[in-house]
Amino acid sequence: MQILDGKIIAEEIRREITAEVAALKSERGIVPCLAALLIGDDPASQIYVSNKEKACQQVGIESRILRLPDTTSTSELLRHINQFNVDPLIHGILVQLPLPKSCDEQQILDAIAPGKDVDAFHPENVGLLSQGRPRFLPCTPHGVQQLLLRSGIQTAGQHVVIVGRSDIVGKPMGLMMVQKSAGANATVTVVHSQTKNLADLTRQADILIVAIGRAKFITGSMVKPGAAVLDVGINRLPDGKICGDVDFDTVKEVAGAISPVPGGVGPLTITMLLQNTLAAAR
Ligand code: NAP
Repeated sequence: MQILDGKIIAEEIRREITAEVAALKSERGIVPCLAALLIGDDPASQIYVSNKEKACQQVGIESRILRLPDTTSTSELLRHINQFNVDPLIHGILVQLPLPKSCDEQQILDAIAPGKDVDAFHPENVGLLSQGRPRFLPCTPHGVQQLLLRSGIQTAGQHVVIVGRSDIVGKPMGLMMVQKSAGANATVTVVHSQTKNLADLTRQADILIVAIGRAKFITGSMVKPGAAVLDVGINRLPDGKICGDVDFDTVKEVAGAISPVPGGVGPLTITMLLQNTLAAAR
């Protein structure tokens, strides 16, 4: 049984990005810069943004964080985004989610210039992805794809079952896996909370990708022997420990490969954000 170690693969990709950032600086005098908007004082969001800042520093990408109170109005936020949009020294913009309820999330995400939309949430970038000519790949699904590729797991012709259909993970993951152009070429099934006989479908997966936000939901009896299981979930247990959507202990007895939580998909997500910021700067 193979453990899909996201930390090692993320380090490998970050070394590549560091070299490419240095080359961009020396050849064209460009230092990639990521601007993050953090609204309110949600502790998890504070941690995510500071992790992104540290990751930027590690590879030589500049980062700017604009912290605003949770009383910030949608129109004020839009004004800041417009300033970032026209600033030639800023290449990537991210708005840390979730936003306070008073903000119109869709309107704010839609206002980010598509060429600086390094989270790839803008409808133009979602459309380009669905047409198989992505400008930016969404960070978490891209991380899953890199984890598969760099672990030597082929997707072509394989049955990939994705559990969860969110706009951030499940749906774009399906689009990426079914694409011909990027070479994924998988046969894709997406299942969700309304799916009947879910376990009958998960048991058909050569590659099972799980992103639902339910601790240890996928158990060994739901997995085909030898399948690769990628766990996107991040759940906090009552004892404070973090676990995935996959019951690691029972699934590892059946699977051919499994990504742990923590240390699987998680480290790849921020890494792919760095890669998109580099791509935006180019
Ligand atoms: P989300 O927006 O809440 O979507 C969850 C999806 O799972 C929905 O499509 C939902 O179905 C489906 N679902 C929920 N319960 C289900 C059940 N019992 N059976 C089948 N499907 C079910 O979540 P998300 O943003 O995609 O995140 C999913 C998980 O991944 C979370 O734990 C999150 O923290 C984690 N995550 C991790 C990373 C990372 O970097 N590793 C990045 C993003 C998210 P319906 O559509 O029918 O409601």
